[in-house]
Amino acid sequence: MSKKDATIGVLALQGAVELHRPHIEACGADFKAVKTQKQFEDIDAFILPGGESTTMLRLIRNFGLWDALAENFKTKPVWGICAGSILMAEKVTNPAQDSFGILPFTVERNGYGRQLESHHSDINGYKVSFIRAPIITDIGKDVEILAEHEGSPVWVQKGNKIASTFHPELTEDYPSPMHRHFIDLVRSGLSCRFPSLIYT
Ligand code: GLN
Repeated sequence: MSKKDATIGVLALQGAVELHRPHIEACGADFKAVKTQKQFEDIDAFILPGGESTTMLRLIRNFGLWDALAENFKTKPVWGICAGSILMAEKVTNPAQDSFGILPFTVERNGYGRQLESHHSDINGYKVSFIRAPIITDIGKDVEILAEHEGSPVWVQKGNKIASTFHPELTEDYPSPMHRHFIDLVRSGLSCRFPSLIYT
């Protein structure tokens, strides 16, 4: 298979990794499951998947990946989904925990309640799943809200960093508009010689 113009790495320590493949490939990009520093360097952008943020944090620490991820996050596009969005936040509550602080927002874990409060919803015409999802309770003033649900932002962006508190990848209608949006963003950075200028 020929090399595609963008390789999207999905952090593959825990959570919903493989489900992103058909969405990414439907956008004409390459999917790669990544879990080593070398693999992080070979990709153009990261998806931090949904799963369990405390488990992911523990594995990131245990495998000594924190610094390598933080370094890559400085320049590359990142999209965090549910647990992945919690890893990106500036501040995490219920309870407080570490995060990379790469998007200025505060997130309350399990904000809708427990598993029974998991639900589907329609976001921008696409069916998505909220699974023990966090709620974004505060955002920095320069963060763009791409979608809201029940009065709170659920899909936010600043520069090349995006967070969604819902899962679009479980829906088998490829690609989701959220994957399309992220991969368009990745491509716009790759075609620019000075991506740091358009991302700030
Ligand atoms: N409740 C999980 C957490 O706090 C997130 C759930 C998900 O990613 N679907 O990490």
